[in-house]
Amino acid sequence: MTLFDSPAFEGHEGVHSFFDAKTGLKTIIAIHSTARGPAAGGCRMWPYASADLALEDALRLSRAMSYKNAMADIPLGGGKAVIIGDSRTGKTPALFEAFGRAVDAVGGRYWTAEDVGVSPQDLQHARKQTRFVAGLDGHAAASGDPSPVTAEGVFRGVQLCVRRALGRELDGVTVAIQGVGHVGALLAGKLAAAGARLVMTDVNAEALREVAARTGAQAVAPGEIFDAPADVFAPCALGGAITAETLPRLSARVIAGGANNQLADPEIGRVLFERGLLYAPDYVINGGGIINVAGEIRALESGAAFDPAWVDAKLDRLLGTLDEVLDRSIADRRPTHEVANEMAKARIAQADEARLAA
Ligand code: NAD
Repeated sequence: MTLFDSPAFEGHEGVHSFFDAKTGLKTIIAIHSTARGPAAGGCRMWPYASADLALEDALRLSRAMSYKNAMADIPLGGGKAVIIGDSRTGKTPALFEAFGRAVDAVGGRYWTAEDVGVSPQDLQHARKQTRFVAGLDGHAAASGDPSPVTAEGVFRGVQLCVRRALGRELDGVTVAIQGVGHVGALLAGKLAAAGARLVMTDVNAEALREVAARTGAQAVAPGEIFDAPADVFAPCALGGAITAETLPRLSARVIAGGANNQLADPEIGRVLFERGLLYAPDYVINGGGIINVAGEIRALESGAAFDPAWVDAKLDRLLGTLDEVLDRSIADRRPTHEVANEMAKARIAQADEARLAA
């Protein structure tokens, strides 16, 4: 398959493949759009079965970052890097230094960060070869763990959705949380403090026990979370929680959580809309984390310190954008995920026009 024939190709500005003979590094850096600013998105290390699959993932994920960054209204485009390899066995400092050289070769059109299979420690090695790395600790511009900002955005998003769909505040509302890792646990704490009743699950039994005890939640087995009576379902684990099989089991009127790729496919988003459920598009409601990273890139570019007030202001605006998505969905009688995609594309196109006119 060639790049332009790939089903995931959608007007990407550039796709760069790099091979390093010494370390065996094979990486693809996909830049979907730089209309709003340099492309930003994490680096994923995965044992792809073929180069075609790696390319498809890079294309799909970089486009998703363009949409996410546009909806978060941050001055960044969308990009993603993938390294073909097994993160459990294939990592070496030299490999990540070679990756850093690849990022540097793109000349600042792409900023990298961590993603599945890649840690801040790995990126420290990349940083020796390029300055275009975000998400590292130990400097004045560092933004730290993005999870608290993600969780705050999701909490406020759940509050907004509950007001709109149920006409009430969170006190006494039941929220079912799938996954109590970094984001899910912080979200649970905020919801409990707001008076929500919680039912939760996690495949990590110890984490589940600890978070449930701390938040006064009912803990259930992973397969049972879809059947637990609740007003809100908050997916905070991995992708694909909402499927043709799980959707009919949900009693919730609202689906709003921190996980990426919550809908198993776009069609299920239409089905839930037709059933009258309110779905907060995942890449909008969970945009707090990338806003935090954007705060770091902004500080690195300007030489200033990280500015939490800028992050707060962007988070406020993100909630306004979510509200607008929900308004338009009602006005146009269209599923929220379709409305969000359309708004993201329009924001990118507008920035592109402004860039061409400048
Ligand atoms: P995490 O790994 O800390 O937490 C995920 C949790 O889900 C873990 O505790 C894991 O045991 C649990 N889990 C996995 N499969 C499960 C299943 N089938 N049933 C129940 N629990 C399951 O990750 P995180 O940083 O909290 O991120 C959670 C989600 O939010 C991911 O989809 C991530 O891509 C997304 N996200 C995170 C951030 C962030 O700032 N951390 C930002 C945006 C999006």
